[in-house]
Amino acid sequence: MFRIKYNYKRTFIGNISKGSDLYDALTQIVTEEDIRTGKIMAIGAVSEGVIGFFDQKLNTYKKILLNSEHEILNCSGNISLKEGKPFVHAHIILGDKEGKVFGGHLMNGTKVFACEVVIDEYSGEDLYRERDDLTGLFLWKGKNLV
Ligand code: ZN
Repeated sequence: MFRIKYNYKRTFIGNISKGSDLYDALTQIVTEEDIRTGKIMAIGAVSEGVIGFFDQKLNTYKKILLNSEHEILNCSGNISLKEGKPFVHAHIILGDKEGKVFGGHLMNGTKVFACEVVIDEYSGEDLYRERDDLTGLFLWKGKNLV
């Protein structure tokens, strides 16, 4: 449960270039625009994908490599602060030529074929991540988070 309220501030809409690393491109946008809190939505296609599955016992991400073209059926994520900088956390669902889907945590190595992205920015108090001892993950923390 959490209790922070934000106000809508701005929306950015654009394309990500063919050949770009999707995660790096999203990070570049939020860094350049200094978006500290927000929401990301993207659709399009990739030439290859790298998605992660967090192994809760080993406390690490297992990488799933997709070495062929896929549709980005959905990529959604959020923006908050990690170590003082805007940080993107996104998940992605990729579909193959038969419509089969793979999904997971968006990781570096996902190469864009074409991508349309919409980012909403919110204003309000900073939302930041800190390492959580119970999960080993960097989760949202803050004085108003319950
Ligand atoms: Zn994730």
